[in-house]
Amino acid sequence: MVYPRDSGARQIGRSRIQRPVAVVAAVSLLAIGVSFATYSRQPTAPLTTNEIAPALFVHIGDIALMTSGNEGAVANIGFVVGDDAVAVIDSGGSVREGRRLLAAIRRQTTKPVRYVINTHLHPDHIFGNAAFESEGATFIGHKNLPRALAARGQFYLDAFRRIMGDDIMAEVKIVAPSRLVETELRLDLGGRALVVTAWPAAHSDNDLTILDEASHTLFAGDLVFVQHIPVLDGSIRGWMAVIDQLAGIPAARLVPGHGPVIDAASPALDDQRRYLARLAQDVRGLIARGAPIDIAAHSAGQSEKGSWTLFEDYNSRNATAAYAELEWE
Ligand SMILES: [Zn+2]
Repeated sequence: MVYPRDSGARQIGRSRIQRPVAVVAAVSLLAIGVSFATYSRQPTAPLTTNEIAPALFVHIGDIALMTSGNEGAVANIGFVVGDDAVAVIDSGGSVREGRRLLAAIRRQTTKPVRYVINTHLHPDHIFGNAAFESEGATFIGHKNLPRALAARGQFYLDAFRRIMGDDIMAEVKIVAPSRLVETELRLDLGGRALVVTAWPAAHSDNDLTILDEASHTLFAGDLVFVQHIPVLDGSIRGWMAVIDQLAGIPAARLVPGHGPVIDAASPALDDQRRYLARLAQDVRGLIARGAPIDIAAHSAGQSEKGSWTLFEDYNSRNATAAYAELEWE
């Protein structure tokens, strides 16, 4: 993809153009410059958010892959406002999305953003972090998050520069957490406490959940997917165990990492448990029969195809990850 400002500058620099052409080019470049300046002066459009509990707001991301068109805004992200301060839960899939989240916060309150909690390492949850650096926020992550970011961060930046383009990725950088969660951490927003819990390897090896005690709302991060196929990047056995523990948390409502907010009566956790159990059972059967990993990638979990969005994008990868884990049982 070619961007107007880049292509214009390159053409001017490269060619020995005749004067009238040069004037036209200069004028058009000026026009481009003006339009960019006008654009950058426009206020950032606030992200659409729903107040699902008092002073607790959620933006429901598209159920989609991250693209230049959606600016990476595919994860559910949100914020909670206390008497003194605000906590952000995941910053989104680009600095643009992070800025739009900040604009949505500023529509509700002038209180400082004291915490940005990253539920785990994946780009759709952390690429907006830089939008909150100037707020002086403390970035909070699982004790394993720094190691995960060190291993994957540069790969994510390079890969999503190709996928979403230089323009959207220009300001995105990896912001490591400044405060780590070993097991549990209580955050005080002033008359409102958030309980941040670090989990053993499940969706990833650095998953956090956040419980707002005032409203009994659980931000589950990507430990819970609704409609969107679950994506395995941690441990399938660990994840199945964590689902059972999540089901035991007395929450009135749950914000999944992807898909609509659910209440306690929702069968969503059962759906996710069923998918992972099917995948594990299929993969174990294939391993027992001596089938290679590429056969597992194409056949395991296929009976779940009709039940999930983005199945073709992730199921083979999930089967491969499950195989790599379960062949050593
Ligand atoms: Zn994730």
